[in-house]
Amino acid sequence: MNKIHPATVSLAARLTGLPKVALLGRPNVGKSTLFNRLIRSRRAITHDLPGVTRDRMEGAVLRRGLPPFVLIDTGGVSLDAHAAPQPGPVGLRGLEAEVMRQAERAMEEAEVLCLVADGREGLTPLDAHLADFLRRTDKPLLLAVNKVDGEERADLLLTEFYALGLPLLPCSAEHGYNMGALLEELAGLLPPGAPQSSNETDETALPTDGTADEETPETAEKAPMRLALLGRPNVGKSSLLNALAGEDRMIVSPAAGTTRDSVDVPVQLDGVPGILVDSAGVRRRSKITDTLERFSVNSSIKSSTKAQLTLLVLDGQEGLTQQDKRLLELLDERKLTFMVLVNKADLIPTDKLREVERSYRQALAYCPHVPLLMVSAFNRRNLKKIAPLARDIMQESRLRLNTGRLNRLLEDMLQERQPPLIKGARAKFHYLTQAETEPPTFVFFVNDPERVNDAYSRYLERALRRMLGIKHAPIRLRLRGRRAAEKV
Ligand code: GDP
Ligand code: GDP
Repeated sequence: MNKIHPATVSLAARLTGLPKVALLGRPNVGKSTLFNRLIRSRRAITHDLPGVTRDRMEGAVLRRGLPPFVLIDTGGVSLDAHAAPQPGPVGLRGLEAEVMRQAERAMEEAEVLCLVADGREGLTPLDAHLADFLRRTDKPLLLAVNKVDGEERADLLLTEFYALGLPLLPCSAEHGYNMGALLEELAGLLPPGAPQSSNETDETALPTDGTADEETPETAEKAPMRLALLGRPNVGKSSLLNALAGEDRMIVSPAAGTTRDSVDVPVQLDGVPGILVDSAGVRRRSKITDTLERFSVNSSIKSSTKAQLTLLVLDGQEGLTQQDKRLLELLDERKLTFMVLVNKADLIPTDKLREVERSYRQALAYCPHVPLLMVSAFNRRNLKKIAPLARDIMQESRLRLNTGRLNRLLEDMLQERQPPLIKGARAKFHYLTQAETEPPTFVFFVNDPERVNDAYSRYLERALRRMLGIKHAPIRLRLRGRRAAEKV
């Protein structure tokens, strides 16, 4: 582990003068795992200071397109680093004091601070104490909530951390979730004047141990898109699927013998590989014509929750039924990414098409961002527009912005329209951060969320969409007050 690679010596010389980012936090939150991930386990360029088992390590983060910086793992406050484990409250105080000492040291020497917490364990008093302590510097600070291993639970795990009022990013060092986003965020917080971009990739300049990196946005884009076709029976889902996929391309062969509630069917969407997440609806109907098949809004939406993009199919002849409305509401409420296909357009006289389209758009006025196409599986009307539109929505949905840029946008938004006077005062916005993607989720930190009325929230959403060019993807806005943090 301490073997020094020949490349290290010259590298070490180049590292001096680079800005430093410190990882801090309680023991066991995953700092060291995170450190190894971010420097890609290049232990050859880390060094242990003598004296303790694992005191602190430094490593370079050199990634193409990002300014280079040195990462410090303030590391090992393990009780065995002290003379003997101290049980009880005394031990805890000793540990706490040690953590605080390291935080103090990091505050002095690092340009950017990254507080790491354990999302599974939740917010502990020591985390809150550390956050309060770190807030005293004017150094940029980011809270990384680690061990958020499955994105589905992220929301739940994060709730209490928002109360700290810090820009926050969920991640999983162990599974590589959000590692790229974390690096970008940290790099975005580096002081201006720092070297702007690293042209050397670590692959060429440095030894590598071949550790797999997380899914980068580029590879995510190359991965097949997960689609769901949703709609009442008989609206034409199977016909559309066949028209889109090309009959022989659709392989309906769920792995034999497995009992799963949904099956992935590989499809080609206009030449682009995709995966149709099918919770039996489309597939079953294409096999047996069971017109009596019961339709349940709740169970049919299941495949949508497993897909990245849902194609909601409506029957252009029948208009919007109650069931269609319920499906639309559910998709909108759950902020699922979807587009509406009004099928069987061939049955609508050409001179009526615009009028029919307008009536559907009116019914969708409450979610104006959702794209709508008048299509026909029979005469292939507008089918060619589906794949490019799908790609655009996915790109918007995966958008990831760093806190620096978002805060400049926040300033613009506040200047363009100031918050309303409510109860004699205006809400004061502290900062804006992005917590998640797919869909992009933005958190506004504000002194008193009660002073932000619906009209102003709607303005914020419109302004964000306009400034970021998010036309069709759903976005989520959250307002967090700082009161809870002050109470901690
Ligand atoms: P440190 O004391 O803060 O440096 O924490 P370590 O990096 O030593 O990690 C403490 C424990 O948490 C180890 O057992 C890790 O394997 C585990 N761990 C680290 N990151 C994650 C994660 O993202 N998810 C889960 N489930 N465990 C993690
Ligand atoms: P699903 O239950 O949603 O999968 O619907 P199907 O694809 O089985 O189609 C239901 C009925 O609508 C069938 O009789 C299809 O022939 C018919 N259909 C599907 N798409 C179109 C279309 O674009 N135009 C017309 N005129 N009929 C269609």
